Amino acid sequence: MPAIDHHSHAGYVRPGEALEGIDALERENAMGHVEANLPVGVFDRYVAARTAGDRAELDGLEREHGIRALFDESIAFQATTVHGVSLVEGSRALYGELSHAETVRVSRERRHADFPGLYGQALDVSDTAFVLTDIPAIDADAWPHRQYKPIARIDPYLYPFGHPAFHRRGSDTPRFQRVFGSILTDLLAGEGLPEPPETLDEYVAFVRASLLRRQANGFVGLKIASAYVRSLHFIRRSREDAQAAYAQLRTDSTAVETAGYAVLADHLVFAIAELAVERELPVQIHTGMGHAEPGLLLTGADPRNLEPLLSDPALNRLRVILIHGGYPYTSYLAAIAQAHGNVYVDYSWMPYLHHHTLERMLQEWLELLPANKVMFGTDTGQPEFHVSATARGRLLLDRALTAGVADRLWTTTQAEWLAGRVLNENLCQVYGLEAP
Ligand SMILES: [Zn+2]
Repeated sequence: MPAIDHHSHAGYVRPGEALEGIDALERENAMGHVEANLPVGVFDRYVAARTAGDRAELDGLEREHGIRALFDESIAFQATTVHGVSLVEGSRALYGELSHAETVRVSRERRHADFPGLYGQALDVSDTAFVLTDIPAIDADAWPHRQYKPIARIDPYLYPFGHPAFHRRGSDTPRFQRVFGSILTDLLAGEGLPEPPETLDEYVAFVRASLLRRQANGFVGLKIASAYVRSLHFIRRSREDAQAAYAQLRTDSTAVETAGYAVLADHLVFAIAELAVERELPVQIHTGMGHAEPGLLLTGADPRNLEPLLSDPALNRLRVILIHGGYPYTSYLAAIAQAHGNVYVDYSWMPYLHHHTLERMLQEWLELLPANKVMFGTDTGQPEFHVSATARGRLLLDRALTAGVADRLWTTTQAEWLAGRVLNENLCQVYGLEAP
């Protein structure tokens, strides 16, 4: 049964970062361990030097603080996590039985030689018909829309005047803030604007034009990743309040520290959601935990924060997909989807982070929710994880369905029907795409 990946980052390379091998994925997952074992100032210097590619500073920090040893220690501890196991499984499927050092070398070489080709192999090996990919822009020649359908984050549009100063731990939230800012600069340039225009009305016209252009260029849906920078508690704000906030934020650089920051972002979320209803663009929303370092605040990523948005009468036909299983709020996700006919859930990311939990969660979801509600996804931009997440996503779905058949909850015919709904049909129905 072919799979469609509801949420991936295929084709995405972070601005300023080269294509690296699987060792970079191990290190990325070690950031929390490193951050928690260095003086805060040293960690900040390390992150800044890495971002700037400052070799001399990195060498100096290494001599003084032995940062590499901290990464190695963390990577050794990661070996028993589903993340660690999945990376090994996916690498083996793509490159064969090699030592760790050889796998690192080959994974790097294959990326540099032909990254789209390697990803294509991952889709073939895992019988994936196509992926939806969360990406700012895509080169449709290298990454054909037939296999890679782009999803546009709305977050860059929400913060035209930047973010309040960040005073908490970790490098993750500042990174999201920077990325949102640099993508907005590109999107403004795409509409011929050197900076945000003078009034909110003109700015909203820019956002609309930008999103329509992206839809015309093949983007099939939207995404909200803002849980990494703020709470999901979006509330409807009046146009007048948002106009006043816009005017103040535009002329006073300290105003980003005031309530106006949230007023403007909230207003824009509702404006874009209304456009999404009009243009029939489904919206994915990140819910639940973040990456393996401090940054995202779990309380802010609790899907119950979305109740004001989801209960807004103007948005009753907005198709919303709450993603990542909302872990650890998985039951809340099901309860929200159960009460709203326009809300769906996906379990992207979970296939390479969770094993037993995912099987239990799928049992819970599939026995409560109608057959049209649940979607499979990987949430990776890495071919190794794509292969293992698809294999694990299928395995754990199969186990949940097999248990349901054994308990006489479903007939085998019903279980097969559910498998197809989850692996591809639900997504195609919600996005208006042709089933494989
Ligand atoms: Zn993602």
